[in-house]
Amino acid sequence: MTETLNQELPCYYMVPKERVDEILAEYNPDEIVIATLTSHSSLQIFHGARKMGFKTMGITVNHDTRYFDAFPLAKPDEFVKMKDFDEIFDRSGEFADKNVVLIPHGSFVEYMGAKRFQELDIPVYGNRAVLQWESDRDMERQWITSAGVPMPRIINDARDIDQPVLVKYHGAKGGRGFFVAKDYAEFKMGIDHTQPYTIQEYVLGTRYYLHFFYSPLSSEGYKVRDGSLELMSIDRRDESNIDEMYKLGSQEDMKRQGLFPSFVVTGNVPVVIRESLLPKVFNMAENVVKRSYELFGGIWGPFCLESIVTDKLEIKVFEISSRIVAGTNPFISGSPYADMIYPGMSTGARIAMEIKNAAETDRLGEILT
Ligand code: ATP
Repeated sequence: MTETLNQELPCYYMVPKERVDEILAEYNPDEIVIATLTSHSSLQIFHGARKMGFKTMGITVNHDTRYFDAFPLAKPDEFVKMKDFDEIFDRSGEFADKNVVLIPHGSFVEYMGAKRFQELDIPVYGNRAVLQWESDRDMERQWITSAGVPMPRIINDARDIDQPVLVKYHGAKGGRGFFVAKDYAEFKMGIDHTQPYTIQEYVLGTRYYLHFFYSPLSSEGYKVRDGSLELMSIDRRDESNIDEMYKLGSQEDMKRQGLFPSFVVTGNVPVVIRESLLPKVFNMAENVVKRSYELFGGIWGPFCLESIVTDKLEIKVFEISSRIVAGTNPFISGSPYADMIYPGMSTGARIAMEIKNAAETDRLGEILT
């Protein structure tokens, strides 16, 4: 399976920015309602929005919302229950009447589908054009590597496997079905040829999921373009069963018993990185932001560089998430990094603060698409 760079862009329909601006022209900036799908990081998004004085709306599609009763400070003012995602399209006029701004998160985009999310005629925080670059692994690689940020090497021909590799199926989510192979024989043993896949160098090192926020509205702090780049927090993911597999002996032994490693995210742990790596991680994030403006009009708001640091202190980014990630959830009351910018602030609250600033300065059109 080869990876094609510089390919032609797939053709997507995205709701035109003019249409979003038309809807926004009717909005009352003092009455904005922050809405998102109830899951993933929605507790944090609602909690942050309420702290910043917004009304909130939880959109549910066949989801049990009773757990929100257990967290009153993060419970949305209103639940809107839907039978499926098509209903959001049918009810977009109602959302516009309520001055709704949608906050994307991983589950929202994944369950709805990136393409459909781009078609929604409801104002969304962030640049929806990023979805097309992010949801295609080849385009994502083109963006990140052309920003000068190293990624794990791609092995185009399985017969060339001369080091541990990770085989990633394209449709896989949360690392489900990925497998590790150390040579061609192991690759042949594990591969499912019916699915498209990529073979990537397995980067041996420690994983850090770096949560940045780029504000085109702020001119304080670490300046990038006309805005500023903030490091809000860092987490490491708990992944089942790879994280605990070592307790049972070698992976070879496990394979003989039909037990294969998997990378399913089950939780998140807060971490900090050694201070001497900070210049490098800021530089990487800065270049990714700058390149995004050249390629597709930019990323702004929260994004995450999913990285591995080797024992030579090289950093390789294996994925970017261009929205709030669930790894920010441990930081609802701030983080070792956010506390040096905005004490006690979560990424959810930072999003709300950005929308509030934009509403107060008549700049909503610059951050909603
Ligand atoms: P998600 O969309 O939930 O982020 P995904 O299906 O796109 O997941 P990745 O994020 O690419 O999968 O990878 C899942 C996990 O596999 C990572 O969290 C990491 O533990 C591991 N991983 C990914 N790429 C590499 C690599 N090149 N070397 C070593 N480990 C890797």
